[in-house]
Amino acid sequence: MDTGLSYNRGMQQPDYCPLCRFDRTRFVDSVRNLDAHCVTDALDLVETHSCYFVCEQCGTVFQYPPPTFDEMANYFKNTKVSDSAIFLDVKKDLFQQRLGFLKTHIGLASGRVVEVGCREGNFLKLLKDTYGYDVFGIDPSEHATQMARSVNGIDTKTATLESLDLKAEGLYQAFDLAYVMHAMEYVYEPGPFLTQLVQLIKPGGYLYLEVPYLGYPYETLICGKYIFRQQLSHFLGSGLGLFLKSLGITVTETLIDIGHSYPSFQVIGRKMSYAELGESLFRQELDHMNARYIEAGQKLNHLITDYSQVALWGAGYDLHRVLTLMPSLIQPDKLVLIDENPNKQGKQLCGIPIRASASVTTANILAITPSAEALRQDILKDVQQRFPDVPVVELFAESEKKDTLNIV
Ligand SMILES: [Zn+2]
Repeated sequence: MDTGLSYNRGMQQPDYCPLCRFDRTRFVDSVRNLDAHCVTDALDLVETHSCYFVCEQCGTVFQYPPPTFDEMANYFKNTKVSDSAIFLDVKKDLFQQRLGFLKTHIGLASGRVVEVGCREGNFLKLLKDTYGYDVFGIDPSEHATQMARSVNGIDTKTATLESLDLKAEGLYQAFDLAYVMHAMEYVYEPGPFLTQLVQLIKPGGYLYLEVPYLGYPYETLICGKYIFRQQLSHFLGSGLGLFLKSLGITVTETLIDIGHSYPSFQVIGRKMSYAELGESLFRQELDHMNARYIEAGQKLNHLITDYSQVALWGAGYDLHRVLTLMPSLIQPDKLVLIDENPNKQGKQLCGIPIRASASVTTANILAITPSAEALRQDILKDVQQRFPDVPVVELFAESEKKDTLNIV
């Protein structure tokens, strides 16, 4: 099929996904005659074709190569319709609905709010007037931010978010809520954009992110519905959620709004505080450790069931953890506990007397209890010397091999 498209004349393959930077991407489709779907004729794109790729990791569908910087600048320069009274009326409903949404799902009573891609600051003004928030806007358009200041009285910064030195600007972790409505789809690299966005939010603060929603990217792309040349990326909820998670944002709510001009995907997330983050990592580690002890305990349970007398070698911390996590294993009549440390001999561990190996004459099976590899090897040598005919089991041998901890 001769589509006459640029990719047929040597399609360029992207190096990586603009969101998660994964290096495997696949060609999806190309779209031509985009002007039929564009809200504006600002882009001179009649003969231009857009090629779309999908990231095989996060599912983001993106244009490659994207429109040039000049094309994008031209688009934004020519879409100043939003300062007209008519446009404001159209938007009012939408803004009111989003205000209600924020109130219901975030419930902030007061605080500082930043909108990235604030345009003329109409939404921020509404937010300020309705709830009394302390508001701030960031937008690259000189014209829009000037309007925001002069017409709406909103404090703004004229810049792209990615270009800002947040600490120097006093914007680092300065906001209770960062609000982004239909802006991220215009960004060349949404990954660094989101990373920087999260830096604006105080620990424990909120993120509101809204992007166009394609649903089934492939089908929608093929029929060309809701596809606009000026929108560089289209996000899949799950991939976006996972990426936000990697930045310390827990997604608390997602919604698909089909009530307006085209479907929107709304995400509310909360930036975990350091205390919450620490607790969560601690719990993960604890769960991981407990899983190892429980696995060892299950092994010991099998031994107690299968043998009338089980000798345990090593009256240390690991065995103590196993027995306290699974107290049903504390069966002094079935267990013989050996430790060659004279300081421990004559004492008890969980009610089981600790004995020297020399005082033990019989055992059906012997279990080595420490989790540390080196200690186990030492004990194994002693066991083979002392009880050469008794079968030996290592309670922690298997768990040790798959001892990897995944944090994040
Ligand atoms: Zn990706």
